[in-house]
Amino acid sequence: MTDTTSAARVAVVTGAARGIGAAIALRLAADGHAVAVVDLDEAACAETVDAITAKGGTAMAVGCDVSSEEAVAAAVERIAAELGAPTVLVNNAGVLRDNLLFKMTVDDWDTVMNVHLRGAFLMARAVQAHMVAAKFGRIVNLSSTSALGNRGQANYAAAKAGMQGFTKTLAIELGKFGVTANAIAPGFIETAMTRATAERVGVDFDAFREAAISQIPVGRSGQPEDIAAVASFLVREDAGFVSGQVIYAAGGPRD
Ligand code: NAP
Repeated sequence: MTDTTSAARVAVVTGAARGIGAAIALRLAADGHAVAVVDLDEAACAETVDAITAKGGTAMAVGCDVSSEEAVAAAVERIAAELGAPTVLVNNAGVLRDNLLFKMTVDDWDTVMNVHLRGAFLMARAVQAHMVAAKFGRIVNLSSTSALGNRGQANYAAAKAGMQGFTKTLAIELGKFGVTANAIAPGFIETAMTRATAERVGVDFDAFREAAISQIPVGRSGQPEDIAAVASFLVREDAGFVSGQVIYAAGGPRD
């Protein structure tokens, strides 16, 4: 019988030097895919690439600011030439510029919109040509429980809610080419990002994590691997009938 779950593809994971992106890159490589590890600084991708190759996987480091049209075009061209046509894309690159609305600068707003929304748009637009040609594609966009509203995150909440509308529209437009698009909306995941948030609000990280856990039904914090497991499912060959969905991975229900 043909194994329809594990055909090797070329996957692009943005923001993959660390955190959730690194875990997704490692997981997709373990699933048999060749992975382009994309992040702002190419040298910073080395740790993820080395971890993949040490386990016998295939990976390449690509320095790219996902909010730059030129950089994205050059990165996707390089990936296609050196690794093969990319047909899996995980838009994970992200930044925080938290502040209450009255203190939020235009730069705080624009930076968050540019990395999350403009970045996901530019990457998806560049990669879709390869997906359409292959009549197969998997796009996974990182949203967040913050999409439902979160104090101090007017910019980030708007961007992460925007990712959901973007995802659903990609699903509608690209479905007939064998391309699915889904969003993962993580809750509290232990990464540099949540550590930075604890620091910003002036709370020790352990206390910050314990406070978060007290609100999480499964009684623990999330790890990057929890999100990687969801991404692994969504890019499988046999997940082709799941599209336009937002999967909350938050240890409990979200509306
Ligand atoms: P992280 O540890 O801060 O990692 C984000 C990565 O994205 C960093 O390596 C960062 O590079 C890179 N990046 C930032 N701007 C970029 C750009 N313009 N082009 C390319 N790469 C860029 O964050 P994380 O916690 O793993 O989060 C990953 C994704 O999950 C984000 O989209 C985030 O919003 C989302 N998320 C996280 C949580 C959570 O609890 N951690 C919850 C919900 C959603 P630099 O280090 O150079 O800045």
